[in-house]
Order: sequence, then C-alpha cells, then structure tokens
Amino acid sequence: MSATLSAPLLDTYARADITFVDGEGAWLFADDGTRYLDLVAGIAVVVLGHRHPAPLAAAHAQLDRLWHTSNLYGTKPMRRLAQLLSDRFGGAQAFFCNSGAEAVEAAIKYARKATARTGILALENSFHGRTAGALAVTGQPAKRKAFQPLLPGVTFARANDEQSLAAAAGPDTACILLELIQGEGGIHALTPEFVAAARELADEHGALLVFDEVQTGMGRTGTFFAWQQLGVRPDALTLAKGLANGLPIGALVVSDAAAGAFVPGDHGSTFGGNPVTCAAACAVCEAIDAELLDAVARKGARLTQALSTLPAVSEVRGAGLLLGVELAREKPADVIAACLARHLLVGAAGERTLRLAPPLTITDHELGQAISILQEVLA
Ligand code: PLP
Repeated sequence: MSATLSAPLLDTYARADITFVDGEGAWLFADDGTRYLDLVAGIAVVVLGHRHPAPLAAAHAQLDRLWHTSNLYGTKPMRRLAQLLSDRFGGAQAFFCNSGAEAVEAAIKYARKATARTGILALENSFHGRTAGALAVTGQPAKRKAFQPLLPGVTFARANDEQSLAAAAGPDTACILLELIQGEGGIHALTPEFVAAARELADEHGALLVFDEVQTGMGRTGTFFAWQQLGVRPDALTLAKGLANGLPIGALVVSDAAAGAFVPGDHGSTFGGNPVTCAAACAVCEAIDAELLDAVARKGARLTQALSTLPAVSEVRGAGLLLGVELAREKPADVIAACLARHLLVGAAGERTLRLAPPLTITDHELGQAISILQEVLA
C-alpha cells in the first residue's frame, strides 16, 4: 500500500491511505502496482466499470470537438441524453446539473414552483446530499446538527409506516420525496405497499411524488429505474452517480404530465448539460440493455445467497447490485480494513452495514473472487 502524499485538503473524508492511478473494468491499480477488486465503484457510480470503451470513446470524441457552451445554446449530446432518458421514463423532460445534491435542489425548487407550496415531506434516515437544501431534506439528525437552521417547511415520516406518512402530508405538501432503497442510510428498501400509499397520498393532496434515484437508477437494482420494479410511476425523479459512469452529472427528470412549471430564469447551472459528460451519459444509457439488467439481478442473487449464511452476517438486503450486508458483531470499518488487506474494496452504509455496489459489468469469475474473500473475512 502506498503512502498518500499530504495535500492541502479540507478534512471532509476519512480517506484510505492508497493512491489509485489506473482502472480497468472491476479493478483499480494503486501507484505501487497493487491491484484491487472494486466493489465500491466510486460509491455506486462506475456502473459499466472503469475505462468502459463506450463512454470512453464518446467522451474522447466530444473532447476533441467541443467542451462547453453554457446553457445559452444547445448541444447535440444534451438533446440526445434528454431524449434517451425520456424514452426510458416513458415521456419526460430533463434538467441537467453536476451532482446528486444539485439534482435534489432542482427537485425541491421544481416542486415548490409547480405547486406554489413550501412543504417537503421526506423520510427519517434518508440521504439526499450535503448542500444546504439537500441536507434539509435528509432525515439524519447527526448530519444536520451543526448546520441548523436549514430550509424550513420540511417534515419527516417513518419509512414503511403508512400512517406516519399520511399524518405528515397535508395541503401545504409540495412533494413527497423518497429513496426507493435508502442507500447511505444502510440499504433499506421501501415496501411496495408504502410506495403505492405515497402515490395515493400525493394524488390526494395535489403534491408531486419524487423519487431520488441518484443511487438506485441507471440499472443498479436490475431495472433501468428502480421504480420500474414497483410499478409506481413518480412525477419526477433525480439521477446522478451512474449516469455518466463517473463523469460529474446530475439530472432532474420530470414526467411530461408534470412538466412546464419552470420558465427561463427559474433555475440554471453553468456547467449543467456539459457536452462531454452528456456524450458519456448517452453511451451509458445505450449500454444498459436487457442482457446487462438480467445479469445484474442474477449476480445480486448470487452475492446475496453466498453471503447471507455466513456466521458474521445477520442479513443481506437490497436489490440487484446494491446490497447491504448487516454485520452481526463486527464494525464495518474493521471488515473494510480486513478486505483491503486482501485487496478487495468494500464500503459501508449506516451503522452496521457493509455496502456492496460493484460495477454492473463485474464478471462471474470476479464475483467468485470477491465472494471467496468475503467468506474468509466474514467466517
Ligand atoms: N441522493 C442520494 C440517494 C444519494 O445516495 C446521494 C449520494 O450518495 C445524493 C443524493 C447526493 O449525491 P452527490 O454526492 O452527487 O451530491
């Protein structure tokens, strides 16, 4: 393992002492030549694997032509990406930005403008990002504490508690904002009944139903969007992480039926819709086909089966290749360190949960290698 050069960085992350210099598929290579099998994928971002040829070629070609125009003008990659997302959604309009938190910010503003209301109904234990607005709708008191007062008008209901949700909804609710699988909160899925109840409540109160698919979107759970497995269509959704396979991008996608609330001047982003990132994102959208999605479900089932009977594991949760491994006794940090020593990268989510979110393209052989190491560490 190489020593990280000290650098004048603000202290926001507990970084491992490794410097990566190359990537290929499900592998990362450190500056000392050690290779690591990557089940973190840049925190559920690199869906097609490192240096995947399709987004790589698309980004390269666009880099050679045009990098940036601002949103005062159109570019072909941005228009194409909006169309690809609309086709996947079944009719929608997009706003592009640069991160998940920015997509959530856009969703909050959109819901308020569309309904002329202020209330945002989110869930306890949710995570929607670190910017001031996204933090205001994040239901984790420890993350919010030092930054109060945050945006007013936000209420939190308990996940999978329909009564709690109904009690918190009212005539001032602009939107109900849900992660279908709470990712940072520990990989906890919402039940189909709860999501269906949220849809009914939103309709009853004239509020928008918004799904934050920053982590669950782009094939991560075995369908292009996670909502497709539940059959509950949102009015809007947010995307980021996997959208451009690691280039920075976020999107607010609003259904055709709910579109039309923003007018020029309401919202914007200098870099949003950047042609290079949009070109890469178009290639990602095109690469996520039925075969890849079937493989995601199959590989997720294999991982779940292999890990759920291990002595150190009390439960494996999640869907597709977004899995939470609840540890019976050990701390995630200790397991992460033990895996790192065996050149396997795994992450954490919540208090007692390992997060496994490998590239969706991880091969069966590589998955077997990861399972062997996890079996050894979690025995
Ligand atoms: N929403 C969800 C569901 C997330 O998981 C995250 C990040 O983990 C965000 C929003 C924030 O995304 P970003 O870190 O790109 O701002």
